[in-house]
Amino acid sequence: MSRVYNFSAGPSMLPEEVLKKAQEEMLEYGDAGMSVMEMSHRSKAFDDIIKEAERLVRELMNVPDNYKVMFLQGGGSTQFAMVPLNLGVKCRKADYIITGQWAKKAAAEAEKFIEVNRVASSADKTFSYIPKPDASAFSSKDEVDYCYICYNNTIYGTRYTELPKTEATLIADISSNAMSEVIDVSKFGLLFAGAQKNLGPAGVVLVIAREDLIGEPLPGTPTMLTYKTHADADSLYNTPPTYAIYIFKLVLEWIKSKGGIAELQKINEDKAKLLYDYLDSSKLFKGTVAAEDRSLMNVPFVTGDAELDAKFVKEAAAAGLVNLKGHRTVGGMRASIYNAMPVEGVKALVDFMKKFEAENA
Ligand SMILES: *Cc1c(COP(=O)(O)O)cnc(C)c1O
Repeated sequence: MSRVYNFSAGPSMLPEEVLKKAQEEMLEYGDAGMSVMEMSHRSKAFDDIIKEAERLVRELMNVPDNYKVMFLQGGGSTQFAMVPLNLGVKCRKADYIITGQWAKKAAAEAEKFIEVNRVASSADKTFSYIPKPDASAFSSKDEVDYCYICYNNTIYGTRYTELPKTEATLIADISSNAMSEVIDVSKFGLLFAGAQKNLGPAGVVLVIAREDLIGEPLPGTPTMLTYKTHADADSLYNTPPTYAIYIFKLVLEWIKSKGGIAELQKINEDKAKLLYDYLDSSKLFKGTVAAEDRSLMNVPFVTGDAELDAKFVKEAAAAGLVNLKGHRTVGGMRASIYNAMPVEGVKALVDFMKKFEAENA
């Protein structure tokens, strides 16, 4: 057996260097005489790991000093509730832009606690573009506590290239594009990302929040769903997902070894271009997304024939290119090409698509 090219949307590929390092340190971490999985979250060895992870997040993302970095649990989906519970406290109202399943779910969850104003939606065209409402469509700063976006839409393959024209505090779900492109943290009140797309294994969620937004939540908010609980305790209020944080730290070291996020962004742009250029020239395959809103991370495409799509997915898997089936709500194919997918993997996919096109013309 050899390792395949895994195009899964998440959990997804991790860099081989990271897996090898974890393997080396599996039985004994440093001189601790035990695995990271077995050590107390209050131990010196683990404290060094979580502090270094935070330091690297701050360095790589250029996080300003007045932001807290937190490592939480419950997946990206728990943030759908934590954001309104903690930030929707003054106006008890927020703007949401609906660009796909994840934004829709976030808005529906928020609506359990606060009033939600859906500023715009791309549901009319199966979320194949990013709506760009003009400034007048948004609520004023005094009317809402925040404006919420899903920065990169994992399922539909769109992303923002320009931030919305809101004057309210901007909140973004960056689960599927965190650290794949340069993001100016200072433009946001809060950013969050489930790790299992670009940052590490499932189980840890990165939250970066401006300090002035971390205060008293809505009455009745559980302790564990309160940002202040975790911010005050440096993510050690209770047992954090220790092993996931350790692997995340190894991924951060890997990103740094590659020259940082700006360097990875260049590689990611090259990778995406290889695939989109081929899709634009192909007579069999076509991309499903408005060209100007194309994601660098998730690339959906179709042949237009469901049977042929299925044949492609099956034959690609046999050739070592796995998890190319599109999301169940979209059909067709989707290639997720996160940071850890090497350019060789994308080249192998394009070569395979060319061969398939020639054979099935
Ligand atoms: C995967 C994903 C989620 C959901 O994450 P979970 O960790 O499964 O809760 C939310 N938002 C985006 C953009 C995602 O890609």
